[in-house]
Amino acid sequence: MDKDYYRILGVERKATAAEIKRVYRKLARKFHPDLNPGDKTAEAKFKEIQEAYSVLSDPKKKSQYDQFGFIGDQPPPGAGQRTYSPGFEGFDFSDSGSSSFADFFESLFGRGAHAAQAGPERGEDLHYTMKIGFEEAISGLQTRIQLTRLVSCPACQGSGHLHSTGKGRCPTCQGSGRAHLQRGSMKFATTCPACQGTGVSRGEDCRDCRGQGVAQKTGLINVKIPAGVDAGSRVRVPGRGNVGRNGGPPGDLYISIEVNPHPHFRREGANILLKVPISVPEATLGAQIEVPTLQGRTKIKIPPGTKSGQKFRLKEMGVTVAGGRTPGDEFVEVAIVPPAAHDQKVRELMKQLAKLSTENPRDKMGMH
Ligand SMILES: [Zn+2]
Ligand SMILES: [Zn+2]
Repeated sequence: MDKDYYRILGVERKATAAEIKRVYRKLARKFHPDLNPGDKTAEAKFKEIQEAYSVLSDPKKKSQYDQFGFIGDQPPPGAGQRTYSPGFEGFDFSDSGSSSFADFFESLFGRGAHAAQAGPERGEDLHYTMKIGFEEAISGLQTRIQLTRLVSCPACQGSGHLHSTGKGRCPTCQGSGRAHLQRGSMKFATTCPACQGTGVSRGEDCRDCRGQGVAQKTGLINVKIPAGVDAGSRVRVPGRGNVGRNGGPPGDLYISIEVNPHPHFRREGANILLKVPISVPEATLGAQIEVPTLQGRTKIKIPPGTKSGQKFRLKEMGVTVAGGRTPGDEFVEVAIVPPAAHDQKVRELMKQLAKLSTENPRDKMGMH
């Protein structure tokens, strides 16, 4: 209960607003649930940081906190127990009228000390990175992944308290829904913090989840990766994030796709790129060569006089991207490989060829 917001953020009491903001941003990034999926400790830390910052960034709340050591939404020490006596040592009544003091108490106890009394809250989204094969990205796949996430606490069905011990009169206020605070000769009536003014006991906090209503669960879940995803694609699995609080909907699971490279194919969106070597005679005389495609092997025609770097298009032999209709193309880029220079016969033929070829291929470049 006694939280030191300065210590949580790791700043000095005399820290400036800018300094507090800077430290908060750094910590929030570090412990953000999106970056620590399923990590309950990080999540608790993140909430703590947020709470500390919400107070220390608000000049009004900050001065209240500096003066009293706690603030509005936080239950006072001992709240929820049969007796409590918030020790307002140092509070001077003459500084504020009794009405503003009552307002202060309203803000102190008016809102729920228990999460179960808050409004519905959507569960957090979770993030997962999956590495898949080149072909798997193109054809899609169905698989199972192991995931740790927050689910509804099975012991209390997510309520956070034990029904078996509840349903009775609130022991704190004896069922009146009102609590009385006394300071010296002054008495203040306020909403009972234990039952939020209902007068009915909610029962003891569930021991399994310590009243949080959630439990961490690690298990396998089925995921379907659609055909045509690519490196950097994000697949959303609805409802597979953390459970919502107080009847709120669950978060979603986001799967970031990484794709293993293929030994021959390269992918650019919907198109497939393939480099194939061709021989000097094939390039000079033309040829029919066999090349691989995603659908199997096929033949392409190399016309006479083909140069290195020339590309041949195989229409609609590429990828149908996720959500797309027609597939892209495959482009075959040829590279002329020289014949084996150590072969004596080849060398003889090349010498004859050199005598025959009178033109210099670099002539047109104008370099002399
Ligand atoms: Zn529970
Ligand atoms: Zn009560």
